[in-house]
Amino acid sequence: MKDISYYENAQTVSQTAYLKLQCNCVLCNTNLELKFEPCGESEIREEATCPQCEIRTRAKIHSLQ
Ligand SMILES: [Zn+2]
Repeated sequence: MKDISYYENAQTVSQTAYLKLQCNCVLCNTNLELKFEPCGESEIREEATCPQCEIRTRAKIHSLQ
């Protein structure tokens, strides 16, 4: 399991705004905790959790190319 920061490559205002939308809780605006873990042999499961509300706001499956 490995945490990845989406802010690493944020260089423009628009990118930062987008990342803020993606990485902050819609309820309390707290930074979401992002977790990535293997799901099968060729997929990664992404989960975003708000530490404040203790809710999982999204879960996505990413296919590895
Ligand atoms: Zn929240």
